[in-house]
Amino acid sequence: MTTGILYIVATPIGNLNDITLRAIEVLKQVDVIAAEDTRHSKKLLEHYGIDTRLMAVHDHNENDRIQSLLGVLQGGASVALISDAGTPLISDPGFRVVRAMQQAGIEVVAIPGPCAAIAALSIAGLPTDRFLFVGFLPAKQKARQVALEALSAEQGTLVFYESPKRIVSALEDVALVLGEVRVVSVVKEITKAFETVKTGSVQEALAWLAEDERHRRGEFVLLVQGAPAHSGAVIDASTLRALGLASEYMPLKKACALVSELTGLPKNALYEASLAQNKG
Ligand code: SAM
Repeated sequence: MTTGILYIVATPIGNLNDITLRAIEVLKQVDVIAAEDTRHSKKLLEHYGIDTRLMAVHDHNENDRIQSLLGVLQGGASVALISDAGTPLISDPGFRVVRAMQQAGIEVVAIPGPCAAIAALSIAGLPTDRFLFVGFLPAKQKARQVALEALSAEQGTLVFYESPKRIVSALEDVALVLGEVRVVSVVKEITKAFETVKTGSVQEALAWLAEDERHRRGEFVLLVQGAPAHSGAVIDASTLRALGLASEYMPLKKACALVSELTGLPKNALYEASLAQNKG
């Protein structure tokens, strides 16, 4: 008997119309839909007239469900895995299921679609040639600062998921640990009525969040410009600020020579860092 296929199906992140034709087709045709929260997913499935049998697979029972899913798939039935929103496995359950099924020789097929991180990158206005998806930062301040410190040399755009409860404290820690010179982008409620993108300095983002309680509600993606490129020298936020200030009064090359004289940092490293800063 041939084994079934496990489909990893992306679902909307707000606007119910953001689902592919192929996703609807697969969700109708499979024998079982493994959903993170069956009650939550029923709304989407009812909207599209899908009455496929549901099975709950979430963070707390993923290991237990692996054997039953394997049984279903080895019996020749097909399964679609969905999460509450967006692409499964992206800050959502599913990794252990996919790994176990692949190890058992089951075919795993992607049905791609919405993902908040990618949607946010596409509208934030920060460089997208290289990025690091971090997911959720730790909830506790000390651990969050340690996590940010570990990311401080990353040159790609940093992409975080953040809860409305912690968006302000996360930004405050970004300013504290990564410095205030980095451009940040607060992207909220993507595909929903109050979709908003605020790209600018950390202080501008914090001021916008403080302006109105409604600005702090909803779902957030926080993006932070990567560390400036340099030739091995560590160029901290205050050096970059000094460079920025100096270059307001003289050509950039002269400003680099001056700051190099004052700090001992190589001129070319300062020049590269300044260009990278302006590029962002
Ligand atoms: N798997 C999902 C994906 O592909 O984006 C992410 C699931 S994760 C549990 C949920 C987090 O994603 C939210 O707390 C928020 O940070 C982000 N998110 C989800 N939908 C969003 C939206 N419409 N706008 C902004 N952020 C969103």
